[in-house]
Amino acid sequence: MTKDKAWWRSKAPERSYDVVIIGGGLHGMACAYYLAKDHGIKNIAILERERIGFGGSSRNTEVYRINQRAPEIIPLYQQAVDLWKGLSAELDVNIMMWQKGLIALAHNNMSIDSMRMRHETFKLMGIENELLTPEELKKMVPRLDISDTPDLPIIGGYYHPPGGSIRHDAAVWAFAKGCYHHGIDLCEGVGVTGIRIKNNSVTGVDTTKGFIASPVVLNAAGGWSATIAHMAGLDLPVVTLPMQAMVTEPVAPFLDQALASETYFCFGNQTIKGDFVIGTHMDPWQTYKFENTYHFASDLAYGWTQLFPDLAGLRVMRSWNGLCDMTPDSSPIMGKTSIEGFFIDAGWGYFGFKSSPACGKNMAGYIAEQQCPEMIKALGIERFYEGRLVPETTYPRN
Ligand SMILES: Cc1cc2nc3c(=O)[nH]c(=O)nc-3n(C[C@H](O)[C@H](O)[C@H](O)COP(=O)(O)OP(=O)(O)OC[C@H]3O[C@@H](n4cnc5c(N)ncnc54)[C@H](O)[C@@H]3O)c2cc1C
Repeated sequence: MTKDKAWWRSKAPERSYDVVIIGGGLHGMACAYYLAKDHGIKNIAILERERIGFGGSSRNTEVYRINQRAPEIIPLYQQAVDLWKGLSAELDVNIMMWQKGLIALAHNNMSIDSMRMRHETFKLMGIENELLTPEELKKMVPRLDISDTPDLPIIGGYYHPPGGSIRHDAAVWAFAKGCYHHGIDLCEGVGVTGIRIKNNSVTGVDTTKGFIASPVVLNAAGGWSATIAHMAGLDLPVVTLPMQAMVTEPVAPFLDQALASETYFCFGNQTIKGDFVIGTHMDPWQTYKFENTYHFASDLAYGWTQLFPDLAGLRVMRSWNGLCDMTPDSSPIMGKTSIEGFFIDAGWGYFGFKSSPACGKNMAGYIAEQQCPEMIKALGIERFYEGRLVPETTYPRN
């Protein structure tokens, strides 16, 4: 461990490493951190074109939960929550984890059916989750409008006690600190421009700062992961869609849980300060631009004021957007590629913040041991060619 008191410092890259990680987001940093901590592999560079945490890692709405839809992936989210719980102490950075529970609302029978189906899965897997009537929901959140006045009245929902929120910037700072103090090079302002391959094995990367040799390269570039794969001649089944979020002015705290409506498709939570960090669906167009739009603000305001009419008039303080890497089944791609030494952890869409420590731990295990950990076996890219998808979302939306 370095004696430097700084949390981290950016550094110019060396000419070769044991492992090069493309992307200084939570997935790239978590993998580097666990390679060093669990496996003693420290000769690692994290190459980040912009700055640490520039991507989705510090642009998300900070919600975590375990009760995802696909049973194959639920243990990974469970492991992530277990890891998050220890990280403030382990890295001596308060990540402001608040296990306040997550409430989701149903506004039609299809949504109720889907919640019931998922609830049975959770029961079998030992995941805490309760189905609730509108009256029970009202007891938990007295300001919720459960009357028949909204366009889509609330007809039920669930409460998932293990869910909650974690401050995204603090999570980024914590992993950057963990990496730096294990001797990992955090190289900001270094863009990867090419992947070099010889005899179907990766040999290094071309960057804006020259060639860097490495027998192992991890693509952890989030919304840009398809462009990185393309540099290696691989077509990823990933599209990049923008997603927007906003924060309101603070009001006296009244919402103690994270909350989502599956039909208005809005989600978020009230922070300890009293502001609401809220988001909605991805925009349906592919782009690499960062833009906020009027339709987003108006959709989101509509959804939240349908649930809480007295929020009408609340001012928006700030809004932002990020890029989401979406796969056809909305589950991620983790593991090896057809090129020896070229690994991938991407395609996280809506869900990559909460999962990041577990992804890092499993990818580190895979890279170090050269054996795919059980936890991520179902998530390899080959599933798209073998026809065994891991469906994470229900279509049409419910
Ligand atoms: C508005 C919004 C709300 C969200 N809400 C949630 C939520 O509540 N819960 C949840 O679990 N998830 C949420 N997500 C998703 C989550 O943020 C992402 O899945 C996650 O942050 C992805 O992390 P990452 O480390 O894979 O990628 P990123 O954090 O995007 O990191 C990738 C990095 O790669 C870098 N890069 C790109 N190209 C190159 C290159 N050529 N060379 C070098 N570096 C490069 C980028 O600059 C970037 O910093 C949300 C996303 C958005 C946009």
